[in-house]
Amino acid sequence: MMATVSESPASPPSTRFQRGAFAPIVLDRLTHSYGDRRALDDLSFEVKAGEIFGLLGPNGSGKTTLFRILSTLMTPTGGRASIQGFDVAREPNKVRQQIGIVFQARSLDMKLTVAENLKHQGNLYGLQGALLRTRIHDVLGRVGLLDRAHDFAETLSGGMQRRVELAKGLIHSPSILLLDEPSTGLDPGARRDLWQYLETLRDEEEVAILVTTHLMEEAEHCDRLAILNDGHLVALGSPFELKSQIGGDVVLFETRSPEAAETLSLRLAQRFTAEAAVLGSSVRLEHNQGHRFVTSVVEAFPGMVEAVTVSKPSLEDVFIRRTGHRFWTDVAAGDLAPVQSSRAGKGH
Ligand code: ADP
Ligand code: MG
Repeated sequence: MMATVSESPASPPSTRFQRGAFAPIVLDRLTHSYGDRRALDDLSFEVKAGEIFGLLGPNGSGKTTLFRILSTLMTPTGGRASIQGFDVAREPNKVRQQIGIVFQARSLDMKLTVAENLKHQGNLYGLQGALLRTRIHDVLGRVGLLDRAHDFAETLSGGMQRRVELAKGLIHSPSILLLDEPSTGLDPGARRDLWQYLETLRDEEEVAILVTTHLMEEAEHCDRLAILNDGHLVALGSPFELKSQIGGDVVLFETRSPEAAETLSLRLAQRFTAEAAVLGSSVRLEHNQGHRFVTSVVEAFPGMVEAVTVSKPSLEDVFIRRTGHRFWTDVAAGDLAPVQSSRAGKGH
């Protein structure tokens, strides 16, 4: 895959992105600032052919910023990104031919039929006549909506409208599909359907798919993930790899108060040489034999522990391990709102 062996290290950057020689999406020290605010900081990774690659991060972590740069809507302030070897900043028109884009916000014209929406989109890419009709038929077949072609978009359910958005993104047979939080507003059934379509696309057409999400459950479906926090890449790998890096079980002790949690954490260090993190009034640690350890702790410190959970590591645990704070909060550890309540108000 690396075809640069014979090139001199001093080659100008433009010759480094050779078509076919590199992964479908390559980020090379990509950085973006809005004024003083750095939204993306020095990101480098690749998305490979035929994989579903997830960009997972809490709100404000920089997902949409990266999405807009890759879809050529915005030029990065530093570093570079290429799509099929084309630089997104310098060759936006070539990049656009390669990518299908599904925005987070709805983009269908509700007063047009499904087929008309697709026809307009096809025209934007220079498709016409019989070829376009065939494409419309193909993409609607792919998303299971052939029988709705002549219905007005507004008569479709939210899940079906998302599938039409997906069909729009695919009308010009792109080799790469970019989706920004595609399951926003979908019920669990429609969400499952969407993921099934993405998997079929990957398997049958070798489309490379980059999907942003703030949902852990969704990230679990991805072949590989980049986890973003505050514009930084905090983890990269398959969900399994990332979770395997956390040893054994994750143990969470609930105490009465943040102060009690601090005390428990100190005592765990003294008595069991266990390294624990304090998250509000909880104490979290990783242990090879969680259940046995819990018994020892409860016996050793009677009355200090209110409740205990032992679980296998989740992606949230990966996030906590790498950042020191929970996924659903922007505040520092020690000042944590409960996971659910901080999640409630942040749905953009
Ligand atoms: P996400 O999609 O992960 O929620 P965004 O990429 O939208 O994150 O935002 C990343 C950071 O950049 C946030 O701090 C956000 O407030 C900031 N930001 C996003 N868009 C703009 C903009 N147009 N001007 C200034 N700051 C912005
Ligand atoms: Mg966003």
